Amino acid sequence: MDSLYDAAEAQRYLDKYAAKYGEDLALRVYTSRLLGQDASLVLHGGGNTSVKSKVTELLGETTDVLYVKGSGWDLGSIEPKGFPACRLAHLRRCCERSTMTDEEMVAQLRGQMIDPSSPTPSVEALLHAYLPAKFVDHTHADAVLSLVDQPNSAELVEKVYGPDALLVPYVMPGFILARRIAEVWGAWVKSKGREPSVMILDKHGIFTWGETAEESYTRMIEAVRKAEAFVHDSPLSRPTMISAPPPDLLARIAPAVRGAMGRVSGRSWILSLRQTAPLLAFTNREDLAEVSQIGCVTPDHVIRTKPTPLVVTGAHADAPAAELRAQIEAAIRGYAERYHQYFERASTARKADVKELDRWPRVILFPGLGAITAGKTRGEAEIAADLYEHTAGVVDAAARLGTYQPVGELDLFDVEYWSLEQAKLGKAPAAGALDGKVALVTGAASGIGFGTARALGLAGAHVVLTDRNLDALTAAKAKLAGELGGRVHHVACDVTSMADVRAAVQSAVLRFGGLDVVVSNAGTAPQGGLHTEAGDEALRRSFEINFFGHQNISRAAADVMIAQGTGGAILFNASKSAFNQGPDFGPYAVPKAALVSLMRQHAVDLSPFGIRTGAVNADRIRTELFGGGVLEARAKARGVPVDEYFKANLLHRETTVEDTAKAFLYLATAEATTGCVITVDGGNAAAFPR
Ligand code: ZN
Repeated sequence: MDSLYDAAEAQRYLDKYAAKYGEDLALRVYTSRLLGQDASLVLHGGGNTSVKSKVTELLGETTDVLYVKGSGWDLGSIEPKGFPACRLAHLRRCCERSTMTDEEMVAQLRGQMIDPSSPTPSVEALLHAYLPAKFVDHTHADAVLSLVDQPNSAELVEKVYGPDALLVPYVMPGFILARRIAEVWGAWVKSKGREPSVMILDKHGIFTWGETAEESYTRMIEAVRKAEAFVHDSPLSRPTMISAPPPDLLARIAPAVRGAMGRVSGRSWILSLRQTAPLLAFTNREDLAEVSQIGCVTPDHVIRTKPTPLVVTGAHADAPAAELRAQIEAAIRGYAERYHQYFERASTARKADVKELDRWPRVILFPGLGAITAGKTRGEAEIAADLYEHTAGVVDAAARLGTYQPVGELDLFDVEYWSLEQAKLGKAPAAGALDGKVALVTGAASGIGFGTARALGLAGAHVVLTDRNLDALTAAKAKLAGELGGRVHHVACDVTSMADVRAAVQSAVLRFGGLDVVVSNAGTAPQGGLHTEAGDEALRRSFEINFFGHQNISRAAADVMIAQGTGGAILFNASKSAFNQGPDFGPYAVPKAALVSLMRQHAVDLSPFGIRTGAVNADRIRTELFGGGVLEARAKARGVPVDEYFKANLLHRETTVEDTAKAFLYLATAEATTGCVITVDGGNAAAFPR
């Protein structure tokens, strides 16, 4: 590990922030980000930093303050407003108390904030206040964890850092840790007449400090480098290289996992599939079943990964879907039972009056194949995957060094059920009808496809956009990413190619773990008299996209939905032409009529699997389908001016993309409806379905 400190970059932070926030905070932001950008130091909100400085308050007095990382901020992307300023003298006095409840501590911290609208200070704020140095850095560096997650950690810490390192025995984070450090730090300084060089928290992490941001940061890097050198130089150090199994093995298992999780837990999950080198090395361990069950490498991972992962042995990607899913379901039920027993054991031992959290695993390991992680969103699943990837590396290194022995079950329980840790997960967003569901929309680069993908996404779904036109698709994805963040994914796909369609569905599985809703929308609007040769050719070409394109996506989607065993919805954009032909529009209308029949047939055939189908018959929506003279031609064919064409319906109301998207959203959520056609056309008596 090398220092990334760069004086020119530090100056840029000063230029950007110092005038408004002061030099101390500007540099505090800079080196906090340096730490946060290295995943082997801190991950996803882990670690914290602070600086002691002065502020001039509104009434003119100058006050010594502690700027400390606010809860909910990530070091890698933190900004000045992520560091609440608290009155330092008061925080230091808090450290003199012998006890303090969590509520009291939070009240003291919040009560001492200069700006009450700031985020709540880190649970380690009192500890940062206590330490005398101006800048203080705290990380959960992988290499340090490999050293301290050992039965003889004291011996190893002394070996690596010499007699000047202060090792603090494990206690729970928060006030208890601040209190303990006040005691051991005081005793250390008193007996040795100087400060320690570094402070290591057993089973937890590392603290460094300095009078400048650079000094504190550089000490962190040097200390971690020492641990890395020790870990890597140990005789058994080099991990053996494992050749990766084909990536599609995990993808073939994923729908069964997602279905099993959904069926057992009664809610929908998004999965992340990982086959990185550390996870392959770890899942190839002969002692995987035992070593994986020992516990988290540092306690605050527990809220993201649960205390242990689930290991599923003997899952074969080639097994029949129902069999594979049943096997995984049984494994999940076993995990839930063990989790419940752990909760009973620990809550009894701790006399804790707390409600049991959910019992479902977040990390599922497949020997030799890697990991599948689960969350309510792609973001949650990715966090669990990132944490476990580093866990795998730390445990491997620790096991090579000696014996992996992290913090014990009861201590993990304390952190998992600690209200201040649970608060880090944030409030659950308002529930959407499609939360945890995955929806794939074809022809999603524009028009009805785009509008429908957006509507499904706003209802909570993770959406996969497909289209033939990759440039337009990429632009559409970028547009939706602003509203949906990581819940949107895109993959180019020509629906007339079964290989393309299978690849697109596989891409959805690789990205989100499975598929629940398909809106088969891609289509073209060819014209021509069927009695002419040109019309005949147009009809045949049209069938490929306007009929078989829908059949292709239905088959590929049904495979995944059947493997999941949790139902699903396959919906089609059928158009009113299916019921009401227009002059010379046969190449469009005939396949669309056949499509309604296809939808009904799938409703019958897929009903045993709980898979529903439906179609939306929209008419005259202003989209690109009407480009290239089609609009003018259709208006002429109906004998109305172009402007009147869109309003020529019973309600005299132009029908919009949003109207159509609403109908698809309804069908996606209408659990008791299948084989249904919804018209979205402002009313057209000649096209009433019958
Ligand atoms: Zn920590």
